[in-house]
Amino acid sequence: MNHTCIFCKIVAGEARAEIIYRDEFVTAFRDTQPVAPTHVLIVPNRHIESLNQAEAADAAALGNLFMAAQKIAAAENIQQGGYRLIVNTGPDGGQTVFHLHMHLVGGRRMKYPIG
Ligand code: 5GP
Ligand code: ZN
Repeated sequence: MNHTCIFCKIVAGEARAEIIYRDEFVTAFRDTQPVAPTHVLIVPNRHIESLNQAEAADAAALGNLFMAAQKIAAAENIQQGGYRLIVNTGPDGGQTVFHLHMHLVGGRRMKYPIG
């Protein structure tokens, strides 16, 4: 655990968040500044700064980000309508919290390309 990392604190139960899913590898909670009716962040329980720091041993956790997204989309009733998964990486990617996370956004029609 990285004690200066807000997402590590949420995973450890030391910071408040609306946690909606949790397993051995990942934890999911609602974004405090949602950009869509459903906006959930899914994070590996282990502190990984960004995708650039992920290692082969993290493959199960990375895979579980997707499997958790699939389950949460079903639970949120957006599976049929569809949804978007985003992993911002580094400055050009728009990453602001340096604990790898996947955004699950849905509940409205998304635009593409992204601005
Ligand atoms: P990024 O820009 O790094 O991909 O996304 C970071 C996301 O984390 C943003 O959507 C922001 O609203 C969210 N966020 C930042 N701090 C907190 C927090 O303390 N709790 C929760 N639930 N979300 C946060
Ligand atoms: Zn962390």
